[in-house]
Amino acid sequence: MKAPRAEASDTSKDMPLIAYNGLLVGDDARARLVVDFDREPSFSFRYVANPDRVIISLPPTAFGFPDGALSPRGLISDIRYGSTPEGGARIVLTGARAIKMTLGEVRKSETDGYRLVVDFAMITDDQFAALMADQLAKQTGEGAAPLSSATVSDPAIIPRDNDDFLVAVDAGHGGIDNGAMGEDTHTPEKVITLAFAKAFATRLKQESGYDAVLTRDKDEYLTLSQRVEIARQHGADLFVSFHADSLTQQPEISGATVYTISDTASDQLAAAMAQRENLSDSIAGIHSTDEPEAVTDILLDLTRRETQNFSIDFADKIVDSFNGQIGLINNPHRYAGFQVLRAPDIPSVLLEIGFLSNPDDEKRMQDPAWRALLVDRLVKAVKQYHETTVSGG
Ligand SMILES: [Zn+2]
Repeated sequence: MKAPRAEASDTSKDMPLIAYNGLLVGDDARARLVVDFDREPSFSFRYVANPDRVIISLPPTAFGFPDGALSPRGLISDIRYGSTPEGGARIVLTGARAIKMTLGEVRKSETDGYRLVVDFAMITDDQFAALMADQLAKQTGEGAAPLSSATVSDPAIIPRDNDDFLVAVDAGHGGIDNGAMGEDTHTPEKVITLAFAKAFATRLKQESGYDAVLTRDKDEYLTLSQRVEIARQHGADLFVSFHADSLTQQPEISGATVYTISDTASDQLAAAMAQRENLSDSIAGIHSTDEPEAVTDILLDLTRRETQNFSIDFADKIVDSFNGQIGLINNPHRYAGFQVLRAPDIPSVLLEIGFLSNPDDEKRMQDPAWRALLVDRLVKAVKQYHETTVSGG
């Protein structure tokens, strides 16, 4: 019985691997590639610039899954696979923006065969340039050897050089997404949110032990998940998204509102606001709701109750700090299913600083003195939250 088995395995050695199943999931900030093989594949990868790509090299492989099984989505704008003239095979993934491979490993399937799992995350152009330089440095002296052929686990985390309490500050909208529009001055919401975000970040950095990072510092379009991913990569302790929307049907309503995430909205206004804010992705033709159900479920599962409780605590601190200083609407802490607040591990709030449909709010939001006051009260709320909830709790 031994001889035939040895012979069979020798034969199978010369046979190409069979990739019988392929799947690409994710959104515009992160992606996961899964390929199932009949036998254990070895793999290596390297980066190529312009356009920014990751090339995954494999032994000879017969790709047996149907065309379209690996169709580009979100962060991955193009995906190709096939044999190489050298006799191997490869999968080439092009990033919709600069990308990094954060995980690459082969797992033994519970049933039969092996699964290659590769994760990607968005990074900045500067980070990609650094990856390319690093790759070049490693190749010098080793010929054109690929970067790595072992399991890769290299999260796209931006190292911190201090222990400061870090707040990710998100200016809502931007680029082609103007947000709401001021009735009198026609100032777009994206301009107002950026002014508040910058002022808040600058003011917070003046506090010893506190630091801030902006998701955007210019008029730039970011999707909702990209905003969350930037906060995550920086290891932010808190996330604040600035908005200034419109209620054209009710121009008499004025004041600030603090929102936290919830599957069920606290009221109709909150539900409508979340629906409007979540539209930001479809403005640029990005449909994050196209996610397969399984992926959406995972994202929801990850929204841990603990994080939610911290978010609620922070929202309460903001309301307390604003009280008597900054106008608030009735029931100023509301909740709804805001996509931008879904970071599983970063307490997050969305602050509607006022309504661009209300003439008084519109005027106030463009007054640097009022902005400084609001930012001051918000810094106070962050400190209160940090001192009592995080440190004291
Ligand atoms: Zn908005």
